Amino acid sequence: MNFPEGLPIGSGWIPAPSTAPVHFPYDGSVVAQAPIGTVDLARQALENALSVRAEVGRLPSHVRRRALQGALSALAAQRDAFVDLLVLETGKPLVDCRVEVERTLLTLETSAEEVARLHGETVPLDLLPSGDGLQGFWIRKPIGVVVGITGFNYPLLLASHKLAPALAAGCPVIIKPAPQTPLATLWLVHLVREALVAAGAPPAAVQLVTGGPEVGATLTTDRRIGAVSFTGSATVGHQIARDAAPTKVLLELGSNSALVVAADANLPAAADAVVRGGYYASGQACISIQRVIVLESVRKDFEAALNERIQKVIVGDPRSPDTQISKLIDERATARVQDWLLQASRAGAAVATAGSQVDGVLGPVMLIDVPDGQPAWDEEIFGPVIALRSVPDLATAFDTVNASRYGLHTSVFTSSLETAFAAIDQLDVGGVVVNEVPGFRSDVMPYGGVKDSGTGREGPRFAIEELTTTRMAIIRPK
Ligand code: NAD
Repeated sequence: MNFPEGLPIGSGWIPAPSTAPVHFPYDGSVVAQAPIGTVDLARQALENALSVRAEVGRLPSHVRRRALQGALSALAAQRDAFVDLLVLETGKPLVDCRVEVERTLLTLETSAEEVARLHGETVPLDLLPSGDGLQGFWIRKPIGVVVGITGFNYPLLLASHKLAPALAAGCPVIIKPAPQTPLATLWLVHLVREALVAAGAPPAAVQLVTGGPEVGATLTTDRRIGAVSFTGSATVGHQIARDAAPTKVLLELGSNSALVVAADANLPAAADAVVRGGYYASGQACISIQRVIVLESVRKDFEAALNERIQKVIVGDPRSPDTQISKLIDERATARVQDWLLQASRAGAAVATAGSQVDGVLGPVMLIDVPDGQPAWDEEIFGPVIALRSVPDLATAFDTVNASRYGLHTSVFTSSLETAFAAIDQLDVGGVVVNEVPGFRSDVMPYGGVKDSGTGREGPRFAIEELTTTRMAIIRPK
């Protein structure tokens, strides 16, 4: 880790009045001391962002693109060190942290490319006689200061999804990372600021303030900002949306994603997908599989295939390249998951599998027949737990998916084109994935949810649309 001390506010780094240790979730050791931001520092960052707003909004495309390309090269050159730091501060398995860094690189690259595609169009204003002789076109203008608030689980990637599209759009951005995992984000912001300076842009175009809700709320409730882009839980997201109104708020929230196994599914492929998509990042991903809804006719075979695979999941030290599940972010998270498991079994659910438990790591769990009303089914469990339920037919399967208050991504395993298209048509979610895990995500696609999973879309092209407004030009040449 090689960045200045303090917080990147204004054009330099400002010392924070206090620090707090960031712990390695696996063994509790201290990774580093992180600076703790304050409400005053948040206000300072806001004033700085507002003071460079016009300048950042007018930066030529080549400068914005070069800054993002510079950040991309710098991150690529240090990708292994970023992976190691992510493992330590999140406790996520090494394989997942590698994916996170590669996906962050893609976000920077795609955002840089999108700078070249930020354009408007001409429109025929003479459809009405009153428009005879008028010329019209619209352009995109940056929305203003963007406040990006991120959750703990993918700190580098989530921050990149805030800052890279904001810069591509010409918006200054202030990042507030989750208190548990601020380090990789601080380092990324350092690299981006260096790249901004090298490209001829003000470093204050990207700032970062650490801290908890009060720091976050200071940023989100300032009426002078253009937008809040939030990734985190539904509870906090809804609170922010209420407090920040009428400012535009983009919400990337949680889910209890479902995977439907149709009677004609390739069962081994579906079972592989459930293990891969249910337990990655130790289940701490917004689109990890939680509810597995299988047609009754294939339930027995599918459950057996799943059981066999779950027994082989490797649990333990996240620094090992073979580990698939490690400790959750902290003991409070583990205790909550265990409590929800207990509640589910008291309500009649069976614990079909409780995979290996090594070094206090909660291994992979498969619950069977969790009743409605149980948090392990209705809410986002955010741990290595899947809950399997069988249904008589596809219509019931789709109704079960849609009964959730969440709607991020849902997968359907089927060999029928008709079923695939029915799912795409009928499932009330942000993305339907056929014969692949719901966690599949690429930056060329719009990503986001419906219902309590959020509003707005990410993926650089779509985020840039959210972070810009159209400005219409109507011209009577003579
Ligand atoms: P969280 O909601 O507890 O916290 C998220 C962020 O909000 C943190 O930085 C926190 O400090 C800040 N915050 C808390 N109260 C605030 C307030 N009043 N005003 C402003 N900021 C405030 O979430 P978490 O536990 O860190 O992250 C996990 C959650 O994030 C899960 O629900 C997960 O599904 C979700 N998530 C969603 C996506 C997605 O793309 N949809 C991606 C990753 C994570």
